[in-house]
Amino acid sequence: MRAAAMNTLAPTAPPPPWRAPPFLRVSAALHFGAVAAAVAVPGAWPWALGAVVVNHAAITAIGLTPRSRWLGQNMTRLPAAAAARGEVALTIDDGPEPGVTPAVLDLLDAAGQRATFFCIAERVQAHPALAREILARGHSIQNHTARHRHNFSVLGPRGYAAEISRAQDMIAAVTGERPTCFRAPAGFRNPFLAPVLHRLGLLLVSWTRRGFDTRERDAAKVLARLADGLAAGDILLLHDGHAARTAAGRPVVLEVLPPLLAQLQRQGLRSVTLPQALREPIDE
Ligand SMILES: [Zn+2]
Repeated sequence: MRAAAMNTLAPTAPPPPWRAPPFLRVSAALHFGAVAAAVAVPGAWPWALGAVVVNHAAITAIGLTPRSRWLGQNMTRLPAAAAARGEVALTIDDGPEPGVTPAVLDLLDAAGQRATFFCIAERVQAHPALAREILARGHSIQNHTARHRHNFSVLGPRGYAAEISRAQDMIAAVTGERPTCFRAPAGFRNPFLAPVLHRLGLLLVSWTRRGFDTRERDAAKVLARLADGLAAGDILLLHDGHAARTAAGRPVVLEVLPPLLAQLQRQGLRSVTLPQALREPIDE
C-alpha cells in the first residue's frame, strides 16, 4: 500500500524500487536451481523440468485467484482506520453505461452514499459527459484498463504498461483526475502486473465480496452474496457495464442497490470512495 501513500503525499517523488513478494522470489530461485541441477546432474533434468512446470501451474492458478496476495500487493478490504469509521466501499465496474449508470447515480444520491466506479477508459472517452457527471455527484472514477481485454491475464510487461498507462491518460483527459487505484478485468493477472502498477503509482484493489451480477440474473441471489455478513471495511463489487438482466429485463444492479443501500443505512455503515477511505497513509 506504500505506493498509494507515496502518491498522495509526494506525487513527484519517484517510488522506491519494486520488491518481488516472497512467493515470486522462491519461484525465481527454483528456476535457477532447476537449471543448475540439470547441468550438474544431467540425468536429473526431467525432475528439474517437472518442478518448473509445477511452479508455472501454481503461478497461473494464483493469477486466476483475484483475492490472492502472492503475486504482490492487493487490497481486499479497506484499511482498519476506515473500518473503524464505519466505512465500506461500493465499487461499480465496467461502465460508464448510458442505459444504467444514470439510474445508479440517482439511487446513490437518494441514499446519500458514495461509490467508486472502475471505468473502462474507452467508455469514459465515448461518454465524457456521463463520466464527468459521476465525479460531479461526489463519486470517484478509477482505472479498469483501456479496453477490458479478455486476454489481460496473459499480457506481458509492455502490454500491461500500454493498457494501463493509456487508460490513465484517457481518464485524466476527460475528468482532469488521474486514478490512484486499479482493478484487473475479472481480477485475473500474472506476475508482470505488480511492478507495472508500482511504477505507475497505482494500488491494486479487488474486493471482499462480489455478486457475480454480470452472469446471475436473480437479484435476490446477488444481494445475498453481497449483504450476508456485511461489515465495516468491506469492499463490494457490482457492475453497471456488462450488467446481467433480470427476467423482467432490468439491469440486476438496479434491483440490488435499493435493498443493499437500505441495509447499509440499517447497519449505520457509510459507503465512501476509495480515495476517501485511503485518506491517511497506510502501512500494511
Ligand atoms: Zn470488469
